[in-house]
Amino acid sequence: MSVTGLPPYDDSNVFARILRGEIPATKVHEDDHALAFRDINPQTPVHVLVIPKGRYVSLADFSASASEAEIAGFWRAVGKVAKDLGLEGAGYRVLTNMGEDGGQEVPHFHVHIFGGRRIGRMVP
Ligand code: IMP
Repeated sequence: MSVTGLPPYDDSNVFARILRGEIPATKVHEDDHALAFRDINPQTPVHVLVIPKGRYVSLADFSASASEAEIAGFWRAVGKVAKDLGLEGAGYRVLTNMGEDGGQEVPHFHVHIFGGRRIGRMVP
């Protein structure tokens, strides 16, 4: 466990490998704090993942450990990506899975942006 009580960051996770350029990704945005790319298994016509460039396991880790600049930069990028993808008019959904009960598969903090069709109410 790290100082936050969360599991330590695993540098072999697939998003860390994408950040290092070891595996390809269809990038839609990149800046100092965030990288956005298409999900490999899209659940909606538009399905993009936005990840911070820092080494954060999950939202719990990111919110506890990231700097103000990283947090601001990351969330600003999420809004910009959704807008640039043309989703603002019709609307979209932003979601993050946190930990085992949340169904998180990749242990590098990320948010999903879903759009391009009407999305029903989420029932856990
Ligand atoms: P999670 O359940 O929130 O961790 O979701 C992880 C997401 O990463 C899933 O929607 C996967 O389809 C997606 N994913 C896994 N590997 C890759 C990849 O190499 N490129 C793009 N998306 C990926």
